[in-house]
Amino acid sequence: MEIIRTDCLVIGAGLAGAAYALNAAQAGLDVQLISLGGSNDANSDWAQGGIIYDTDPGSGLLVNDIMEASDGTANPAAVAQLVNEGPAAVRELLIDELQVPFDRNPDGGLEFTREGGHSARRIIHAKDLTGHAILSSVAKRVASMARITRQEGAVAIDLLTLSHNAENAGDRYAPLTCFGAFVLPAGSSEPVAIVARKTVLASGGLGQVFQHSTNFPGAVGHGVAMAYRVGARLIDLEYVQFHPTVFYGKNAPRFLITEAIRGEGAVLVNVQGKPFMDRVHRRASLAPRDIVSRAIHEEMATSGEPCVYLDLNAMDSDFPRKRFPSVYQRCLDHGVDISRDSIPVVPAAHYSCGGVHADLEGRTSILHLNAIGETACTGLHGANRLASTSLLECLTSAKFTAEADARDIADLDFKLPDPRPWESPREEADPTLVAQDLNLVQQTMWNYAGIVRSPRRLTRARRILLEAREEIQSFYRDCRVTGELVELRNAVQTALLVVHAASLNPRSKGAHYVIDE
Ligand SMILES: Cc1cc2nc3c(=O)[nH]c(=O)nc-3n(C[C@H](O)[C@H](O)[C@H](O)COP(=O)(O)OP(=O)(O)OC[C@H]3O[C@@H](n4cnc5c(N)ncnc54)[C@H](O)[C@@H]3O)c2cc1C
Repeated sequence: MEIIRTDCLVIGAGLAGAAYALNAAQAGLDVQLISLGGSNDANSDWAQGGIIYDTDPGSGLLVNDIMEASDGTANPAAVAQLVNEGPAAVRELLIDELQVPFDRNPDGGLEFTREGGHSARRIIHAKDLTGHAILSSVAKRVASMARITRQEGAVAIDLLTLSHNAENAGDRYAPLTCFGAFVLPAGSSEPVAIVARKTVLASGGLGQVFQHSTNFPGAVGHGVAMAYRVGARLIDLEYVQFHPTVFYGKNAPRFLITEAIRGEGAVLVNVQGKPFMDRVHRRASLAPRDIVSRAIHEEMATSGEPCVYLDLNAMDSDFPRKRFPSVYQRCLDHGVDISRDSIPVVPAAHYSCGGVHADLEGRTSILHLNAIGETACTGLHGANRLASTSLLECLTSAKFTAEADARDIADLDFKLPDPRPWESPREEADPTLVAQDLNLVQQTMWNYAGIVRSPRRLTRARRILLEAREEIQSFYRDCRVTGELVELRNAVQTALLVVHAASLNPRSKGAHYVIDE
């Protein structure tokens, strides 16, 4: 088995992983940066609405909005870090250094927009392709750094710890310590070990464990499942945020309709064209996401209709095409012309507020294992995330974690061991079984652990998933490892963890809503 040695192994090249790699390399560390696919295969690339650039953090308004969206549950220390340190992170890296092409007013100043739950216009954007504009600029800089080795199509399989993988028996009794991961390189069926002083989970969200999701296809909570298997502390996994407005068409793919459309005046209406959010929340269509998603769910249940609509009549007919060119084109591809038609929408799984517990410098409960970005949970979002905070969180968590790692590594007396070799079984996995099992996980989660949960539904989900996990585990043990198999194994594990967390919490809060049925 090939062994690669490095200072930092970063699992995930979305905004969190790429920004960490940049910061770490600038601090003189060698980095192996791996991802399932290219830069586009990341939620970061798919972000539409924008990133918060609050030039008046002292006002306290952003703190209030985050706390209100979270229903008072967010961690004040994490909120303070984001609000106070965020503006410099955006200005220094994105605006000054990389000159990301954010939209500007005719006078050359940045154009600010607004999204649900925000009391002010404080979000900057690049049309409705903000994530792509940011990540492609960061990825370009990453590609120019000699200290960063970028591997696309490389799948992390399992984390290496002294307790589980070191040759020396005595190491089993040391504190839980991570020293890298087994990784399946692109186009290979033989895993390698990447042995690292610091391992960083930046593997994104878990929306794809649900049947309807806004997330990129690989987002099944790889990091959460890997961390769980080595005994890391996980937290808040029941708080899965459902985005209220995803395009609905009978045979059309689901894609996100950015909240910024409502920020610019679009109104949620039912099939009769009647607004229904005014009676639910004082911010009507711009209420926090959990409230809007549940109101849509309720409206659909009452009317029996498969969707609700976004009415854009308040905008000039030319405005949607100019301001939201990507949404305009994608809707048009599916027969909806948003310069005159309302957009059919439904909610879909969008963001994991919980994840691998991490402090404000990315440390998890396992030594030398960090978690940043959507995989991590510092408590910033509490039970429900405020729109457009997550790209900013990627930047700040990457910066503070890389800085701490650079300090740490300088006086780290940690001799990296050789891991025990990987043992490969011979059987080939049957792709039909893999696809079918993934479907089962996604449908179970959507039907029994989705927007509205009940003890009975969660019990049913748990039973189905436990049986599926048993089946998948034995399949995994017998077959030669592939990316699809790793995904399935992690998906069922993550799904069970979400169901378990939801079952343990009888209290409705934020994105976790339980009925007594
Ligand atoms: C459609 C959409 C729109 C959004 N709009 C906004 C917005 O406007 N503003 C905002 O702030 N937030 C938005 N969000 C949320 C935000 O984009 C994400 O929370 C954030 O980008 C997550 O970044 P990340 O780096 O943590 O993960 P990601 O960007 O998802 O990156 C995850 C990386 O991990 C890799 N990976 C995963 N598992 C493995 C493995 N086993 N081995 C190797 N690599 C692995 C993936 O290949 C990928 O490179 C949006 C999300 C979606 C889905």
